[in-house]
Amino acid sequence: KLASREFHKEDSAVYVGKVKVGGGSLAMIAGPCAVESYEVMDTVAKYVKAGGANILRGGAFKPRTSPYSFQGMGEDGLKILRDVGDKYDMPVVTEVMDPRQVDLVCRYADMLQLGARNMQNFDLLKEVGRAKKPVLMKRGMSATVKDMLMSAEYILAEGNKDVVLCERGVRSFEDSTRNMLDMSAVPNVKGQSHLPIIVDPSHATGRPDLIPSMCRASVAAGADGVHVEVHNCPEKAMSDGPQALLPHQFLDLMGDLRRLAAAL
Ligand code: PEP
Ligand code: MN
Repeated sequence: KLASREFHKEDSAVYVGKVKVGGGSLAMIAGPCAVESYEVMDTVAKYVKAGGANILRGGAFKPRTSPYSFQGMGEDGLKILRDVGDKYDMPVVTEVMDPRQVDLVCRYADMLQLGARNMQNFDLLKEVGRAKKPVLMKRGMSATVKDMLMSAEYILAEGNKDVVLCERGVRSFEDSTRNMLDMSAVPNVKGQSHLPIIVDPSHATGRPDLIPSMCRASVAAGADGVHVEVHNCPEKAMSDGPQALLPHQFLDLMGDLRRLAAAL
């Protein structure tokens, strides 16, 4: 298997623009859940850049449970994300939900995000496998680690070697957190695969009070980075406001993570 340790013994590193992810380099991916406007994107980017984030995120195509919820700004959102990423000299990652939109998203993004809900959308996996952009593939909410590695295999088999995995929690009986964060997935994947894996405590816990400790735990567990949602005004956010960190909380967190990473 192309994703396996047997196939490739060393840890793989993936470049997102100039940013190295894996092989000893941490991805600090941050930004709002959705691209909502130029102003919000610009404000959040300014703060996360100041905190030391090295990749900017923001969804332009949003997979929402309700068809009546905000679905994202589409191409207008991609343009904003690109402009703001360029302004702050940060590569950008954004979700692509549909195989027919892969070319469009590739025109604006430095990295394609495959959402949890699409981890086993095999036609989409094949299409991003043919794209010339690195992929951030999130674990499905009811996918096993084995399932996740097989989904990555689809992308690799099409010729795209630049896959970063993301643990973002799975569904469980626990209802005090949004999902249940499977921290063991990090060393579990590392044992079986050479691919980088990062952790998204924002979607895993859904709780700003738990995100900092889970980010620290991720780095301590050997993760190649973290993925965190930040918003300057969470109560006005168009999606995932309740789980967003405020800019000052993100700044504190990044300081802690830098100290932790240096101590490891
Ligand atoms: C997101 O990153 O905003 C998102 C929708 O994440 P997930 O696919 O993990 O739910
Ligand atoms: Mn979100």
